[in-house]
Amino acid sequence: MTKYYGTRCHAEGCRKDRAGFSRFCDRHRREVVLQGEVGQRRIRVPELSPYVQLVERRLAAGRHSPEIQDLVKSFHRRWCDLVSEAERYIDCVEKEIPTWDHPTIRRSQGAPLYREFELRSYQHILRMERVETDWTRFLVETAAMIIFREFEPHRFVTDRSFFVQLATRVGRMRRRVVFEDGPRAGQLVYMSRIAVKEKHFIGQQLSACFGPLGLHLANIELMGLEDEDDSRRILSEGLAALR
Ligand SMILES: [Zn+2]
Repeated sequence: MTKYYGTRCHAEGCRKDRAGFSRFCDRHRREVVLQGEVGQRRIRVPELSPYVQLVERRLAAGRHSPEIQDLVKSFHRRWCDLVSEAERYIDCVEKEIPTWDHPTIRRSQGAPLYREFELRSYQHILRMERVETDWTRFLVETAAMIIFREFEPHRFVTDRSFFVQLATRVGRMRRRVVFEDGPRAGQLVYMSRIAVKEKHFIGQQLSACFGPLGLHLANIELMGLEDEDDSRRILSEGLAALR
């Protein structure tokens, strides 16, 4: 375990005492645990919604074009691959076999069969698959977060805090609670129970899965293409590599 010396909080400019074994004072420790980094503020829905609308507009404009339909299908395949990977990982853990691909290499290094934070992250990804009725929400919101970051990089302190914010926004869910007098939407948001390390991992997975759409849409916006045909062509050309 890393030892931290001194009694002051390690956040820049903070003069408070450290809290217990943490490097930080209470306030900054909470910031790291909830937002992923000191100084990172939570990304709120109203901030993100213009970008969500942008993605929805672009996808809706091409709803009837075969290129965009193919594109959405290819992203669905990527999402299914991620879900399969989660299932495989959890299966390995249950059967007590290694979760990694090269047993000889890693075994000699004394690697554990699985990592707790990866297991919990994959369990959350499976919950997302089971609870969410429309997977395209993951696609749209992840792409929106990527464009948001391209346009307002100052809103994210580090890569890590970006991934944590991404997972927090996209991975949130409401659990349906069934009462005796019928179903009612519960307000329980799973994300609050997810550790920051797990959010980081989930954010990375979502970004790897859906990020390319966000980057290409951001480029189209930056080029200022008003012509729908042009932007659709560039979008499908740029993403052809995914298929
Ligand atoms: Zn502090």
